[in-house]
Amino acid sequence: MAPLDAYRELVERTRKIATLQSCAELLGWEERTTMPRGGAGHRAAQLGLLAGLAHQWLVDPRMGSLLAALEDSPLTADPAGVEAANLREIRRRHQRATRLPQALVEEIAQTTSLAQGEWQEARRRAEVKRFLPWLEKIVGLVRRVAGHIGYDGEPYDALLDEYEPGATTAEVARIFDALRPELVALNRKIASAPRKPDAAIVQRAFDPERQKIFGEMVAAAMGFDFARGRLDVTTHPFCAGIGPGDTRITTRYNPRRLNDALFGIMHEAGHALYEMGLDKATHFGTPLGEAASLGIHESQSRLWENQVGRSRAFWAYFYPQAQRIFREALADVSLEDFYGAVNHSAPSLIRVEADEATYNLHIMLRFELERALVKGDLAPADIPEEWNRRFRDYLGIEVPDDARGCLQDIHWSSGGIGYFPTYTLGNLYAAQFFDQARRDLLDLDRELEQGRMSGLREWLREKIHRHGSRYPAGELVRRVTGAPLSPQPLVSYLNRKFGGIYGF
Ligand code: ZN
Repeated sequence: MAPLDAYRELVERTRKIATLQSCAELLGWEERTTMPRGGAGHRAAQLGLLAGLAHQWLVDPRMGSLLAALEDSPLTADPAGVEAANLREIRRRHQRATRLPQALVEEIAQTTSLAQGEWQEARRRAEVKRFLPWLEKIVGLVRRVAGHIGYDGEPYDALLDEYEPGATTAEVARIFDALRPELVALNRKIASAPRKPDAAIVQRAFDPERQKIFGEMVAAAMGFDFARGRLDVTTHPFCAGIGPGDTRITTRYNPRRLNDALFGIMHEAGHALYEMGLDKATHFGTPLGEAASLGIHESQSRLWENQVGRSRAFWAYFYPQAQRIFREALADVSLEDFYGAVNHSAPSLIRVEADEATYNLHIMLRFELERALVKGDLAPADIPEEWNRRFRDYLGIEVPDDARGCLQDIHWSSGGIGYFPTYTLGNLYAAQFFDQARRDLLDLDRELEQGRMSGLREWLREKIHRHGSRYPAGELVRRVTGAPLSPQPLVSYLNRKFGGIYGF
């Protein structure tokens, strides 16, 4: 078979898989926004059927023979060329899927489905003993997954690779080890700072209808295109890239907290701008029309949420607008006090509520525990004690119960071991990208002060979005910033910012 014909057929097949998966994505969006509770059982059956079909198509032996026919063909001569990059990624996915025995895949699906129910119950009652046998089962299963997938360094590599292709555990550990003492030191400085912003300012009464108006205004200014996307309400906010021309974000409004919905919308709109900036017109259904990794995806949301949304420059323009919309709540608050309030930092128990200065410590703790579990260095039964010990060490607070400790996240019960590090990788990528944007766009701060965000958006589109998965994440960072991923940009950014607010 001529390489070009083989390639065409391969792309046709991946497009078909992607179209099927986009149906599942739409059903998933509907489930979390408008579906009546009674539809849950049938929806699980619908999603199960689609996932099974997509898996079947991906492991189809024909995919294997097409990939084999393209091995060492002239199409792969330029490793960064469209065809070679697509082949690299399609091969990776096909291999991952075919290396796992069907029986193991089914056992994981069944076990994690039950484990999630048990986890919910264990968390509700703060009874970790109820969940530990399930954690033990899941750790056993993912260790078997790692064995089948294979790895060069340690078993965790095989799990991490699912979420952050090309990243290695050793590399992530090296960066996290350099970051941890810096963050611990930063948080000590914040705790003993002479100045403290008043967090209560953003916990006044903020009418949800007005929060929606303000959030939509900010999203539109960022470049979220409401003709190619929409914003809805949900309990756990997310972004769903359904397909070309259809990217959806969700949020939740808390009448006593301005931060939640606003920064939630900016976060999800950041994800959405990435989806909208991918070249789906040409590359939909192939890796080049898809995000490079979860970490890169998260960098886009964090950059808009934090580097932009929690900056003084952004509020120089948007604060007067916020004061107009939330007249009663903000009439007596200065820009400086408001800027301090949205950046208030204090160690807290719950990861998803953590601020920029403490967030990554929550992730490191999870990464270290997961890595030790998968290696076999730590028994699942020892997790609660080890969690609490590290929490005291890194964040300086006692964990009062396991519900607010090791039971707080869904990831382990759903089998998502290897996922957590992508959150901190996202923060690291975001800081490094934003530094580069500052160097490339000399007027960036002034533009933000005038409410103009198109320069930054176009820069991100040009440097990151339009490439899709053409480059592995690590290489993309090097190409965009001229340097490998480093903890330094994030450390400098956090120290500069919190030093200014807290006066150290
Ligand atoms: Zn996100």
